[in-house]
Amino acid sequence: MVAQVIDGKAFAAKVRAQVADQVAKLKEENGITPGLAVVLVGEDPASQVYVRSKGKMTVEVGMNSYEHKLDAATSEADLLALIEKLNNDPAVHGILVQLPLPRHLNEDLVINSIDPAKDVDGFHISNVGLLGTGQKSMVPCTPLGCLMMLRDHHGSLSGMDAVVIGRSNIVGKPMAQLLLGDSCTVTIAHSRTKDLPDVVRRADIVVAAVGRPEMVPGDWIKEGATVIDVGINRIERDGKTKLVGDVDYASAAERAGAITPVPGGVGPMTIACLLANTLTACCRSNGLPEPEGLTA
Ligand code: NAP
Repeated sequence: MVAQVIDGKAFAAKVRAQVADQVAKLKEENGITPGLAVVLVGEDPASQVYVRSKGKMTVEVGMNSYEHKLDAATSEADLLALIEKLNNDPAVHGILVQLPLPRHLNEDLVINSIDPAKDVDGFHISNVGLLGTGQKSMVPCTPLGCLMMLRDHHGSLSGMDAVVIGRSNIVGKPMAQLLLGDSCTVTIAHSRTKDLPDVVRRADIVVAAVGRPEMVPGDWIKEGATVIDVGINRIERDGKTKLVGDVDYASAAERAGAITPVPGGVGPMTIACLLANTLTACCRSNGLPEPEGLTA
């Protein structure tokens, strides 16, 4: 079997176009422009790149983008004061604090100081609890993007066996909750899982979110399974720097029914879902119906 490639880049462009349409409608019919505030503390080069592309795409879909770049030595009190200001700003519907934060700042404290209704990353403890209890929440962007691609490919996920490799708070755990919400039978695997190859071989859906280059070989994949590769790993090969996922793409594509490539799979969906979440937050805060197909 040669796998169908799930084109995350094209899918993300479709999601962004949907968001842009809805934003235009909101402006025209309600006089509201959704606004996303992104807070960056320090000068981490990767974070700077992410923040720049988030800002660019926010403007491209017609939303207002508010960037707050703070010095690496910013005190916790100053950062909390800024978040409080953004919580109270009616022009701001979504707030994202770019992680990781410098070490002197308490990430949990900072994230939990964001108004949960504006927490477009879905990391606030209230949103984690709402998602875990099957209630309406803000859903973390990367797993939301994975879910959208899976729903698009399969229609219903009901009754499918899903294995999520990785149990992080930002990807693995919320991914497992979302799959459970769509009535999959879910296994969460991690570094202490016994017989990982056998666990993965049982799965109709494999979501790999580990951070280890190409650790899942093709012979772990059940014939016809759908593989969602969240991993983004930079490696040196043939004297060049290359991005690879957590799955060995070439061998997995020979057995899978469908697979996301790296790059061009899950990655582009993450920012698209951030924009979708900002739109959702804006609609909710204004008592308007939520955009269809853009939430869990
Ligand atoms: P993380 O916080 O480091 O978590 C990694 C998870 O993998 C942990 O639960 C760990 O288990 C598990 N693990 C490590 N070694 C393992 C092994 N040998 N076998 C099975 N499980 C193992 O990473 P993350 O933040 O979830 O990110 C995972 C990957 O996704 C990274 O490559 C990251 O760059 C990428 N990512 C991509 C996007 C995107 O937009 N596409 C967004 C976020 C993350 P323990 O808990 O037992 O240690």
